[in-house]
Amino acid sequence: MPRHTTSIVWFRRDLRLNDHVALERAATESERVVCAFVLDPVLLRGPHTGAPIVSVFFGSLAELRAGLRERGSDLALLEGDALAELRTLARRTGATALYYNLDYEPHARERDEHVAAGFRADGAHVAASIDHVYYGADEACKPDGSPYTVFTPYKRRWLERRETDPRPPVLSLAAVERKLARAEAIGPTRDVPAPEAYGHARSPHYPRGGEANARRILDAFVSSGIGAYAERRNEPAVDGTSRLSPHLRAGTIGIRTCVAAAAEARRVARGTAAGGADTWTSELIWREFYQQILAHFPHVAREPFVAAARNLEFRDSQSDFEAWSQARTGYPIVDAALVQLNTTGWMHNRLRMIVASFLTKHLLLDYRLGERYFEQRLADADLAANNGGWQWTASTGTDAAPYFRIFNPVLQSKKFDPNGDFIRSMLPALAKLDASSIHAPWLLPPLAAAAAGVRLGRDYPPPIVDHRLARERALATYAPVFRLPRRA
Ligand SMILES: Cc1cc2nc3c(=O)[nH]c(=O)nc-3n(C[C@H](O)[C@H](O)[C@H](O)COP(=O)(O)OP(=O)(O)OC[C@H]3O[C@@H](n4cnc5c(N)ncnc54)[C@H](O)[C@@H]3O)c2cc1C
Repeated sequence: MPRHTTSIVWFRRDLRLNDHVALERAATESERVVCAFVLDPVLLRGPHTGAPIVSVFFGSLAELRAGLRERGSDLALLEGDALAELRTLARRTGATALYYNLDYEPHARERDEHVAAGFRADGAHVAASIDHVYYGADEACKPDGSPYTVFTPYKRRWLERRETDPRPPVLSLAAVERKLARAEAIGPTRDVPAPEAYGHARSPHYPRGGEANARRILDAFVSSGIGAYAERRNEPAVDGTSRLSPHLRAGTIGIRTCVAAAAEARRVARGTAAGGADTWTSELIWREFYQQILAHFPHVAREPFVAAARNLEFRDSQSDFEAWSQARTGYPIVDAALVQLNTTGWMHNRLRMIVASFLTKHLLLDYRLGERYFEQRLADADLAANNGGWQWTASTGTDAAPYFRIFNPVLQSKKFDPNGDFIRSMLPALAKLDASSIHAPWLLPPLAAAAAGVRLGRDYPPPIVDHRLARERALATYAPVFRLPRRA
């Protein structure tokens, strides 16, 4: 029997109607469900939010609202202080319960505790669910209950738990449809604003949000891409990865749906194709790993996970940072990657590692500068994954690359973009260089370069640093710091 007459489901990073734990719970426990989202103008205009992610979220909100309207309901789109707005909605609709899905980001936890305390003080029921991750931060821990800080044992534990405690997608839509509050009961609602209202420009090149789009991408990947994923996931010139990250970030697809799709692909596949599904599942577990790191060690949002790394003395060079972020380092693979980021709001994982290594080791700049830059430019910008990726590369994080691992950008380029196709697609100035010279154009004799239309310093910059010297400088800086005893 339903316990509540009317409940509110507060949507945040879960902009979908299917496989939605809070929605399913609310519908099971209530006679009527009101769906709401609260726009936070401070966050939307703030330094941690960029145009690509706003574009994905607003597109997804518009689709969510359309989906609710098709079913005779609506999305209560509010703006301002979450507690004040949700309280007013509760009074208007007579809601006596609030449901939402947990978010491990420190500012979200603080906000949620405040809202939950306010609702409880009003005598309302509050329920927070695990939804954004397959297993919550306390559900895949060591036998003594402490969190894992190394990926491989975490993954082993995660996979073991799935044997006995699988989490299939929750079939919320069918269950909730008849429980959705009628639009009249919610009252007039506003339109989804344009990103420009918060200072964000639109671009047709940014990923498109929406639950239907996410489902299409997953289906296409599972039917044709996942089999070759293990072999092709490192080549930026090919479409070898799912590109679901903006959707997993905005929650337009459920993590249980993704894990189940990979398991089904594995079941029907044979040999190496099954390996693709396993490798992809492993990447989803990396996402979970960093989520639980952030939940248990929130200090990583501000400073290195490894205490010794807090003594690292980074260089301070605005001009080097600008050369990196504006794709003018003179290393084609680095510059091509930054062009991809700056124009499309997405960057291939291999390239994220290469450019992060370049910023933190070659230029010896603080990883937090790169982390902030990614935050503003990525459509999938996610505190846990972004911080995890940067701290891994900078060797300051948990289970990170050892400090002496310094990617050679030319070797990486030759290995993962052997024909230079990706570089050519992003850097038209180098389009006429062949595979033997495109990875390091400064080595080409000036006449040969001019024949290919490249005059170094005019059409394309010379390298900002020499690889060998930069490597030595990084080792000299990192080595003494990491000889100090490590403490988490
Ligand atoms: C410096 C750096 C910064 C990063 N910043 C982010 C970020 O802000 N947001 C983000 O979602 N990912 C981030 N990643 C991880 C990874 O690069 C992206 O998730 C991936 O490129 C997204 O493309 P895809 O959806 O095609 O991935 P696929 O290869 O298809 O993987 C499927 C999903 O698994 C998850 N995933 C894959 N690799 C990782 C990883 N290493 N860590 C955590 N989750 C992973 C993502 O949700 C991804 O969508 C970062 C990596 C690095 C090295």
